[in-house]
Amino acid sequence: MKDILYIVVPCYNEEEVLPETSKSLGEKLKNLIDKDVINPKSRVLFVNDGSKDSTWKIIENLNKENEFFVGISLSRNRGHQNALLAGLEVAIEYADVTISIDADLQDDINAIDEMLSKYYDGCDVVYGVRSSRKKDSFFKRFTAECFYRFMKWLGVDTIFNHADYRLMSKKAVLGLKEFSEVNLFLRGMVPLVGFKSDEVYYERDKRFAGKSKYPFRKMLSFAIEGITSLSTKPIRYITLLGFLIFGISIGMLIYFLIRWAIGATVVGWASVACSVWAIGGLIMLALGVIGEYIGKIYLETKARPRFLIDKKLLDIKFDDI
Ligand code: UDP
Ligand code: MG
Repeated sequence: MKDILYIVVPCYNEEEVLPETSKSLGEKLKNLIDKDVINPKSRVLFVNDGSKDSTWKIIENLNKENEFFVGISLSRNRGHQNALLAGLEVAIEYADVTISIDADLQDDINAIDEMLSKYYDGCDVVYGVRSSRKKDSFFKRFTAECFYRFMKWLGVDTIFNHADYRLMSKKAVLGLKEFSEVNLFLRGMVPLVGFKSDEVYYERDKRFAGKSKYPFRKMLSFAIEGITSLSTKPIRYITLLGFLIFGISIGMLIYFLIRWAIGATVVGWASVACSVWAIGGLIMLALGVIGEYIGKIYLETKARPRFLIDKKLLDIKFDDI
């Protein structure tokens, strides 16, 4: 008997793309079942992340019309990462293997076949990697590449050009579940889980309908989240900067003492004013970075649930009966 696959799709205000997406994913699933690659009990699991439009209505209808489609609805909007984790945690109660993909199908669903073949070859995690970003806007491409490089420089192990399109076996998702952090940055956490992994390459397409749910503000906060959740190096660099500036000020002191000794008077106050502002600014920056980490600690100690499920449209399990 082949393994059960659950394709997890987080959806936030995706009414414009869901009809098309469900059609493509439904066909893909049927095709894989017909080819006997996956178990007929495989499903597409939509996670409604507190959408304000008719997304949940559409999911309910899909569920009524076709047994391939199941869904859960979160109690409110919790963001892409939390929605994804909610989907994965629910999915492994039913599935042997999961694949996460965005609702806009910017990621090529034909990579699923190769992912599954790698899974059957013994991989627990298969990352979908974009072979090029030609179809993304210049701005998105530029900021994303800078971000990945910056993360690498900070010593965070992320897969270059991999978003959240990936296959994870039940074992890997159970491993991920053990990570109890509230500040989620899944693409940085999955490499920490480990297990045998591989990559699959594909071309990324444009969003075919609707707007990106990641405006610049959200992208920036996601990037800060990623950095501060996985690396404490910024704090170390601030310490180094502090040392450097202290060193410079000692040097300056010695220089001025010598000038005083040889009788040259110090002229102008501009240099003093500038350094006061510079040091003041750096101190504030340092406090800001440290504050960011303290904020994280504050949130982690509260240990709030990462998501709450409001409604479920799922198959009946044996232990439910
Ligand atoms: N998404 C979500 N909750 C949010 C924001 C986004 O579940 O608060 C989902 C969204 O529906 C989509 C995926 O996350 O399936 C990626 O979003 P999008 O395609 O807008 O991001 P982009 O491709 O522009 O980075
Ligand atoms: Mg997208």
